[in-house]
Amino acid sequence: MAELEGLEFGKSDFVLLDEVTMEQFMENLKLRFEKGRIYTFIGEVVVSVNPYREMDIYGKETIDAYRGRELYENPPHLYAVSDAAYKAMKRRAKDTCIVISGESGAGKTEASKYIMQYIAAITNPTQRAEVESVKNVLLKSNCVLEAFGNAKTNRNDNSSRFGKYMDINFNFNGDPTGGHINNYLLEKSRVVHQQDGERNFHSFYQLLRGGSNEMLESFHLQSDPAVYTYTREGAAITTTNNDRTSHKAVMSALNVIGFSEEEINSIYQILATILLLGNMQFECDGESVQIVGLEAVNHISELTATDPESVSKSLLYRTVATGGGEVIEKGHSEQDACFGRDAFAKALYERLFGWIVSRINTVIEVKDYNPMLHGKNTVIGVLDIYGFEIFDNNSFEQFCINYCNEKLQQLFIELILRQEQGEYQREGITWQHIDYFNNQIIVDLVEQPHKGIISILDEACLTVGNVTDTVCLDSMDTKLAQHPHYTSRKVRQTDRKYGGEGDVTFMEGFLDKNKDMLFQDFKRLMYNSANPVLKEMWPDGHLSITEVTKRPLTAATLFKNSIVALVDKLACKEPYYVRCIKPNEMKSPVLFDDARCQHQVAYLGLMENVMVRRAGFAYRQPYSRFLQRYKMTCEYTWPQHLMASDREAVETIVTQHGFQDDVAYGHTKLFVRTPRSLFTLEQERAAL
Ligand code: ATP
Ligand code: MG
Repeated sequence: MAELEGLEFGKSDFVLLDEVTMEQFMENLKLRFEKGRIYTFIGEVVVSVNPYREMDIYGKETIDAYRGRELYENPPHLYAVSDAAYKAMKRRAKDTCIVISGESGAGKTEASKYIMQYIAAITNPTQRAEVESVKNVLLKSNCVLEAFGNAKTNRNDNSSRFGKYMDINFNFNGDPTGGHINNYLLEKSRVVHQQDGERNFHSFYQLLRGGSNEMLESFHLQSDPAVYTYTREGAAITTTNNDRTSHKAVMSALNVIGFSEEEINSIYQILATILLLGNMQFECDGESVQIVGLEAVNHISELTATDPESVSKSLLYRTVATGGGEVIEKGHSEQDACFGRDAFAKALYERLFGWIVSRINTVIEVKDYNPMLHGKNTVIGVLDIYGFEIFDNNSFEQFCINYCNEKLQQLFIELILRQEQGEYQREGITWQHIDYFNNQIIVDLVEQPHKGIISILDEACLTVGNVTDTVCLDSMDTKLAQHPHYTSRKVRQTDRKYGGEGDVTFMEGFLDKNKDMLFQDFKRLMYNSANPVLKEMWPDGHLSITEVTKRPLTAATLFKNSIVALVDKLACKEPYYVRCIKPNEMKSPVLFDDARCQHQVAYLGLMENVMVRRAGFAYRQPYSRFLQRYKMTCEYTWPQHLMASDREAVETIVTQHGFQDDVAYGHTKLFVRTPRSLFTLEQERAAL
């Protein structure tokens, strides 16, 4: 049991603090980090501090120690929540989800992988081949998604630049039968632009560094990333990751998952196309704009199985429908051509990523599941999504990411409170009101129809004429002036938004990113590709220009819709939480930066969490289970009790051990205020 660790490691549950103050909380967190205890509970929530070093706590022995155990029987660990989620799913047929949050570099993705490994390790004891294969694909999908969706940033060498929610389906035996991945807002602007010290997505370097000579040659590529505009801009070409080994691992993962050779080849052809596009330049001979050097056009047409004339045409012209319904071709300015090229490169990558995810989904999707035959199909969802971000340059992506976090924070507070409250009501125990910051007001500020920031942005994007970021900002200032959490920003001024504070950064480029325009000519070009894989990624390319009159939804609205759907999905599951904290900015295993950590504790709402837990009862157990576990510690209940009910027997045990003031008796469960009481029982039990 947790407390058996001894107090020199600090308190294993923040609920046990003598007083709930920030000071005590931080002291405990720091002490535990320094003693190599990176996990601490707040009730059922696990707080994790990134150790920035290999820890010997994920092996088979540890897995065995947590398998099937109750949460408080072992020291805090990811495995403890994983097991709790798994048990709830298996025993009570509940859909559960594990929500992992924290800022970039806090350890979310690592945690999600340990959780999946744990679930894989404890399931399918009879090693049935079809279940093993499902597990294998689920685990291998991480490797592929990381290659295409992660990049080196200034905060994390392996930063996820997309949000991921993965459902794992289980049959009535509790064995995985499949899954489904949802991906959110890939940061596609990274394809064409990286900040100083950062890289493009890993996949590009893996191809260049790890692709065979024949492959690179047939793709007309050189192996040096410094040759390509898109891979040299951030200047962080080398990293600690070994791109070459990763390339092999990704290739093998793609194979295991079941991508055909043709599909794998197409994936890399698209990456090559993007790199070649990035180096393409335009010049204006006074009259019209031309592509510099036609060789690249030929290479791109070869890689995309399109004809060279169509490639250059779509790069230099756009088809427009005039007011009279006439269709004409309009030559680009040099600037438009560059804009189009970059938009095309970004869209190619985004669609490639989306296609890879849906391709994996077709493999892992549960097929032919018959609930009549197989029982209820239950689910554990794992959410690993970008945490709050503040950069020197905050843009549209940070706006979206931070909005998403406000929304998840809202859900966290609501669910934790609702869960507690609901349980107390059901059990007939008095509920104490808790004061907390309800950030619904901030969520509304962003998403309310007609009035919210997204609506105002969309309106500006739909307005014909030259609406600039500045004009849009003015309109926002007018409409939102009265909002208590709205602070106006200058278009170029860098500023920050951080959890709970509620002010919003507004930077240049918002409108373009929100419009997310891609000329229809590119879509048609790809749709007409003779490569069926590529064609499949561009189903909207068959529309002619006169048919695409309807405005597509903006990027912010699409994102909002996907996040609203995600929240709905999470809200109907029993949630478990992992809250990740990044101890310092230097990736150091020994440095605990007090101010940085305290900031994270504050915006993750961890203090409120402790208060909710403390105000109520930290532990609860059905009478029968409690009795089963502790009946041997009391002469009146061992080996059997003669009382009228389990509840009475439990009362006897509690009274005999003298902690009757620390408990409440619900209709079906015993509620224990502090874990200390259970600790006493556990010790006695162990001593027998
Ligand atoms: P992002 O939001 O940028 O994707 P993240 O929260 O997913 O960040 P991770 O990629 O999981 O962060 O972790 C960053 C790095 O920290 C890892 O690459 C690894 O080096 C280290 N790390 C995180 N968790 C652990 C752990 N449990 N044990 C050892 N190292 C860890
Ligand atoms: Mg990550």
